[in-house]
Amino acid sequence: MVQIKTPEQIAKMRAAGLVVAAIHAATREAAVPGATTKDLDQVARKVLAEHNAKPNFLGYGGFPATICTSVNEVVVHGIPSDEVVLKDGDVISIDCGAIVDGWHGDAAYTAFVGSGHSPELIELSRVTEESMWAGIAAMKLGNRLLDISRAIETYIRRQPKPGGGRYGIIEDYGGHGIGTEMHMDPHLLNYVDRRRGKGPKLVPGFCLAIEPMVSLGTPKTRVLEDEWTVITTDGTWSSHWEHSVALTEQGPLVLTAPDGGRAKLAEYGISAAPDPLA
Ligand code: MG
Ligand code: MG
Repeated sequence: MVQIKTPEQIAKMRAAGLVVAAIHAATREAAVPGATTKDLDQVARKVLAEHNAKPNFLGYGGFPATICTSVNEVVVHGIPSDEVVLKDGDVISIDCGAIVDGWHGDAAYTAFVGSGHSPELIELSRVTEESMWAGIAAMKLGNRLLDISRAIETYIRRQPKPGGGRYGIIEDYGGHGIGTEMHMDPHLLNYVDRRRGKGPKLVPGFCLAIEPMVSLGTPKTRVLEDEWTVITTDGTWSSHWEHSVALTEQGPLVLTAPDGGRAKLAEYGISAAPDPLA
C-alpha cells in the first residue's frame, strides 16, 4: 500500500525537508580535512535542535547516530565516529533525515574533502547526482514507478566513464516511499528489473526518496561486522545522492531542495510545483 498525501501533509513534509536541507548546508561546511565524522554528527544534531526537529536515523533499527557518514569505499550507512578523521582527497556521502510534526525528510549528498580529487571521482559524483535528477524528472503524473528506475539507469549507462569500464549501480539498496515513516512502500530500484513489473502509477500525493548509489566498479556490496557499514565488495569508491520528492497536481516538488527543485527541473523543461511554505 502506498501512502498518498494531501496537499496539507505535503506542506508538513516540506517543513521536514527544509530542515534536512539546513543539515546539508551545515555539514557541507564542516566536512573539511581534520574533522571527524562524529563532528559532522554533532553539527547535524545541533541543526535539528535549532529547528525543534527530531532525528529519524538515531535509533532506527538500533542505528547509533543522527546521520550516516560514508567515506570512500563505504557506500551507505557509515557510522559517525571519533576515529574517522577526514583527510584531503577523501570523498564522503552524508545522509541526513529529520522529523517535523511526525513527517519525515531524507536526503543525501556526496562531498569532496579538501582538494586533489581525480577526474574519475568528480565525474562519479556528477553522474550519480544527475541520475537522481533524471529520476526526479521522471516523477510525473501518468508515469509508473518503473519509469523512474529506467530514467536513473539510462542516464548512468549513457555516461562514458573516464578510464573506461562501467559504473556499478548498487543493487542491494534503493529509494523508497516516505511520509509518516522514513521507509515505506514502494521500494525503488535504481535499475530496471522487469520481473518486478511496472510498479504503481504515479498520482498526486505520491512521495518518494530517490537515491541512486553508484560505484566506480562493482554493483555488489557487503556489510561490515558493525552490522551497518556497507562497502563495495571490490573496494572501489562510490557516490550517493538523494532527495525526497512529492508529486502534486502542479508537478514535482523536491521537498529537501532549498528551491524545491526549481532550477534543476527547469533544465529538464519541467516546472517544479509551487512551494507550499513560500
Ligand atoms: Mg537517506
Ligand atoms: Mg533514503
